[in-house]
Amino acid sequence: MRKLIYFSLISISLCSCKAFKPSANLSDFESYFAEEKLDSIQKNAIKVTFFGTSTLLFDDGENQIIIDGFFSRPPVGKVAFGKVKSDESLIRQIIEKHSIKTLKGIFVCHSHYDHAMDAPLLSQLTGAKIYGSSSTLNLGKGEKVSETNMELFEPGKRINIGDFQITVINSKHTPPFKLLGKSNATAPNHPNIDEPLQQPAKVDHYIEGGTYDIYIECNGKRFLVKASTNYIEGALKNYPCDVFFLGTAMLGIQHNEFQENYYNETISATRAKTVIPIHWDNFMHPISKPLIALPNISDNVTAGFNFLLNKTKADNIKLQLLQGETSVVL
Ligand SMILES: [Zn+2]
Repeated sequence: MRKLIYFSLISISLCSCKAFKPSANLSDFESYFAEEKLDSIQKNAIKVTFFGTSTLLFDDGENQIIIDGFFSRPPVGKVAFGKVKSDESLIRQIIEKHSIKTLKGIFVCHSHYDHAMDAPLLSQLTGAKIYGSSSTLNLGKGEKVSETNMELFEPGKRINIGDFQITVINSKHTPPFKLLGKSNATAPNHPNIDEPLQQPAKVDHYIEGGTYDIYIECNGKRFLVKASTNYIEGALKNYPCDVFFLGTAMLGIQHNEFQENYYNETISATRAKTVIPIHWDNFMHPISKPLIALPNISDNVTAGFNFLLNKTKADNIKLQLLQGETSVVL
């Protein structure tokens, strides 16, 4: 009997070890990671810095805008059993280290905590305006961000910030994550965050509240940021872009038909010349350390990257990867 118990315990621990291991060895994709470029921004160039998940800082040398703005990346214990809160000293360090001095807009793709939780504090520390759904604005209200520093998304309308023109596009959330056949609490299909949400808060209270893609035009260049791995048929066909920041969370565990459709509705539809995968990293791992892939329990990043590499090679499209806190000048 005792033997059986030991055997069960060993099996469970071996099994959970594998489940929580990264689902890709990033050294297999080493040649695709961009070299960090820290040169000053030349005229008409745009520097984009990646902070993991779908947090991307765009800087044209005059103004900065950010997509999402999630840095705190609370550890698994807090996410599963506790409450989460923005890490102010970390965010202050990042603002300093990355010279976030001219941030004008924070565009939140949806209101799950791994996209939206640091937007209120980032707004308060930089003065940047939060643009988002009514759910995202309720996160701002919960943290006492002034009403004048928040603006509700109006999909299809162009927003001008210096030389940046930003258009918000209706989109769809990644198919829900299922554990043992059940959707987790942060899965989509919840409605909205209907009341101001104050931190610390349970992760379950960060309800999706609608999902959006962000189209950015600046100095003759066009970028698309899709934070979630899903699409609305035909939604992007009028948004041609040069560089596509493509959400790939759980792409590797979708069936092939979904993967093909996703590629066609994003990269093919926009005739993108460069693809930069985002939201492939384990967001419970601190940003101060090199990013690691999402764990086996939730994704197969190797399969997702290999699918994209095969497709982009066949279409003669460049694929580039970014480590955390590294930049590309585009
Ligand atoms: Zn989400």
